[in-house]
Amino acid sequence: MKRIILAEEKKAGEWDLEFEEEKKPDICPVCSAEIYEGVLVFECPFCGNKMHARCVQPWIDERGTCPICKRPLLQKA
Ligand SMILES: [Zn+2]
Ligand SMILES: [Zn+2]
Repeated sequence: MKRIILAEEKKAGEWDLEFEEEKKPDICPVCSAEIYEGVLVFECPFCGNKMHARCVQPWIDERGTCPICKRPLLQKA
């Protein structure tokens, strides 16, 4: 009896993990927080990484490159 309950609990846990991974939100590489829907998101046209616009904006303003792939995002005037 006990054994069966334990097995069921483990199965449920594994399923939960898979399910969570499936719908895992993107992680902002700048602040390492999850990117929820509805916030302003910057998506790099080169590497496709997504990050919070407000996190990456200062970096882009300063360096003009993607913080992940380092490709130029701004033409320097
Ligand atoms: Zn962020
Ligand atoms: Zn990039």
